[in-house]
Amino acid sequence: MIAALFNGKDLTIQEVEIPKLTKNQVLIKLKAVGLCGTDLAIIEGHLPTPTPIIIGHELAGEIVDVGDDVDKSWLGKRVVSEINSNIDFSCYYCKQHIFTQCISRKALGIDINGALAEYIAVEAYLIHEIPTSISYSEATFIEPLAAAYQTFEMMPIDEGDKTVAIFGLGKLGLLIMQIALHNNLKVIAVDGSEEKLALAKKFGASRVINRLKENSISYMIQEYTEGLGADIVIDTSGNPDALREIVSSCRTRGKIHIKSTHGFSTPINLTDLVVREITIYTSRCGPFEKAIEGLKSKEISVKELIFKEFSLRQIKDAFDSYRKNRNVIKIIIKI
Ligand SMILES: [Zn+2]
Repeated sequence: MIAALFNGKDLTIQEVEIPKLTKNQVLIKLKAVGLCGTDLAIIEGHLPTPTPIIIGHELAGEIVDVGDDVDKSWLGKRVVSEINSNIDFSCYYCKQHIFTQCISRKALGIDINGALAEYIAVEAYLIHEIPTSISYSEATFIEPLAAAYQTFEMMPIDEGDKTVAIFGLGKLGLLIMQIALHNNLKVIAVDGSEEKLALAKKFGASRVINRLKENSISYMIQEYTEGLGADIVIDTSGNPDALREIVSSCRTRGKIHIKSTHGFSTPINLTDLVVREITIYTSRCGPFEKAIEGLKSKEISVKELIFKEFSLRQIKDAFDSYRKNRNVIKIIIKI
């Protein structure tokens, strides 16, 4: 099969062997894989991985083979896969059913081979069936959508929370925004792309701010919130420089949620956080069932978020497009 292999320096398409199944695994013939900021961070050297590695983890495909201990009825099913593989089901976190933090977990496309290939072998417990009403391209949003839902699983929305400022309108920002709107929060959307800001407005953002055109985002957010600042500020931008504005955009006793880091370390003024008693939340992978239901029920719309589709052989062009175009929301590799 062909696969996009990263050797620590370059990403190239190479011929590799189809993975051999263990008794607990299924073989997925991949149909669509979404590109993610994490993939970009890996190939740009910001996120260390073992090499060589097949990257990619937002996957959808069809099961074409199953290991000896896996139910044969999975054959032919349209599925997505969670990314935290190699779960031991016995550690401190597993005992609390927090499998995404299992101490032995290995993330697909980050710690072990991922999905930018024709086939991937994954453990059967990671698999979720998707209905035919969700296309393979749309299904690549399930992993990031689950992460978007996890934002509010980790951070409660309290009665006094009326306004959320979202920094960064990539797919994660636009998915979180839709969930926030369903929770009756007013959304202030911050990004440097007029196209993305227009899309945020279309989805229902009350206020949009172009960070490249404004001197002080926090001043504008304070002005919009009667001088208080937003009750919740969520960062999906992964931009270390945005953090100062994020802290000053948050109201006293408000909440900051960091969704995206991409491997950067960044200085932060703790005094302002402590004096104003701001709580910082973080979260990553989330509930797939909820994400599938969100797409199925059409509570979440992803059609507007697909930017462009490429073939696997065009992987370099796909990443170039991702890197260079500020308006990119989502790139999907059709396999
Ligand atoms: Zn465990």
